[in-house]
Amino acid sequence: MIDGHIHLERGSYTLEWANKFVNYAQKRGISEIRLLEHTFRFTEFCNVFKSISGYNEFQKEWLDRKMQTSLDSYKSFIVEMRKIRFPIKVYFGLEVCYLEDSEDSIKELLSGFDWDFVTGSVHWIDGWGFDHRKEFWEGRDIDATYRRYYEIMKNLIKSGLFSTLAHPDSIKCFGHLPTCDLKGTYCELADLLNKYQMSAEQSAGLFINYGCRELGMNPDMLGTFKKKGVRLITVSDAHQPEDVGKFIKEL
Ligand SMILES: [Zn+2]
Ligand SMILES: [Zn+2]
Repeated sequence: MIDGHIHLERGSYTLEWANKFVNYAQKRGISEIRLLEHTFRFTEFCNVFKSISGYNEFQKEWLDRKMQTSLDSYKSFIVEMRKIRFPIKVYFGLEVCYLEDSEDSIKELLSGFDWDFVTGSVHWIDGWGFDHRKEFWEGRDIDATYRRYYEIMKNLIKSGLFSTLAHPDSIKCFGHLPTCDLKGTYCELADLLNKYQMSAEQSAGLFINYGCRELGMNPDMLGTFKKKGVRLITVSDAHQPEDVGKFIKEL
């Protein structure tokens, strides 16, 4: 079993910290883990997130809290970790926040290093962080928000920058559901994922971190992706070692 999306962010870049994830993976019968960091952790990405911090005071403070380390130090850590023989497969990559207006900067920042994988995620809709607080959804047109979310996701795939698509229906994080039919959109996403040879996450992230009742993607999306032969990868989206491997079997 694979857990393909695990955040290192709550510890330091040390072997001791990496081993905590490996130990929990072994306990849960996981043979491969993919460790990653959010790009908003890195000061080098400051300019990429300008529209995010400029959106409102809440997001500015949030980003100031998160942007605490450097991409260079993460790369050095990976170089060191690749010398270690772990008892399971351990890969290192990134979860990149996709922003339509920053494709070139993202490409530039990712270049010159052989990442094991690069996962792309949609966390922002035209500057707005939709997954921060439920009350921020008040007054929003839910159907329009969903349509825009998937429009951004299609551009993410078409950018060709990523090997994996993160949590493809995280827009449901606070339980707002659309009234419009999205089956056509799911078909388009599936075709694009296949065209760009990307895998999609079947993720426990919302279940673990947001208390969502649905484990993994919604049945319509999952059905479409399976029918179209999209490559799927099971992930916990763990933010602490204790969550590594959780619900992978069920996913
Ligand atoms: Zn994410
Ligand atoms: Zn994540």
